[in-house]
Amino acid sequence: MLQFNNVTTHYGAIRVLRDVNLQVRAGEITCLLGSNGAGKTTTIKTIVGLVKPTSGEVLYQGKRIDSLRTPDIVRLGIASVPEGRRLFSKLTVEENLLIGACTIKDQKQIQENLKKSYKLFPRLEERKKQISGTLSGGEQQMVAMCRALMSNPKLLLMDEPSLGLAPILIKEIFDTIVRVNREDGTTILLIEQNAHKAIAIADYAYVLQKGEIILESSGDDAISKEKIQQAYLHKS
Ligand code: ATP
Repeated sequence: MLQFNNVTTHYGAIRVLRDVNLQVRAGEITCLLGSNGAGKTTTIKTIVGLVKPTSGEVLYQGKRIDSLRTPDIVRLGIASVPEGRRLFSKLTVEENLLIGACTIKDQKQIQENLKKSYKLFPRLEERKKQISGTLSGGEQQMVAMCRALMSNPKLLLMDEPSLGLAPILIKEIFDTIVRVNREDGTTILLIEQNAHKAIAIADYAYVLQKGEIILESSGDDAISKEKIQQAYLHKS
């Protein structure tokens, strides 16, 4: 569904991604692991058009998207849950969710999507009138995830959803990622530092180090899965 062919990116003179090749297959959960500064967030920014590759190409459903503007990329069915959640902190939970549906005209569809969000995380329904800035970190992550889902994306990009969360909340978020993938067929690219948790739910994993893919492994292959964990944990 998504493919990077030899993608290199720079911030000014500094090269961040170097000849990155990766694939996100339709219907799968792909995870991209890497320690601080490896270039994970830059990868997401490159997909959504916020960073333009200096060489290489990004394909989505077989077509190049690296020269498109961000709104046009989003319209193709790609939604992202940014690192740090980035909610509109003065707006309520429901107002934040509705912003995620701004590309949808059909009011019935919007109401259905809201219901779906509340089914995924019943706690959000209880708190729908609460100002987002007063939510716990875990609840904010739930809102950020549902806000992205409100646009019915085909591809969901998640940037370090476990960051700063207690283990029980990480479990709830990861269980929900699996549900969204299995029940709705949403394709997911999960960016994580939390290697164990991410590998456990991934169909395929890549390890990024200093802007280069140093390892990749199918999630079902126990041996290479172990290898990937060792390599990643060793470097982090
Ligand atoms: P983290 O887990 O810490 O978020 P990351 O793997 O997501 O790390 P990136 O945010 O992609 O890493 O950053 C990769 C490198 O690019 C880092 O060295 C970072 O300092 C640099 N970088 C990121 N954004 C910019 C920018 N706007 N201008 C210049 N350099 C940047």
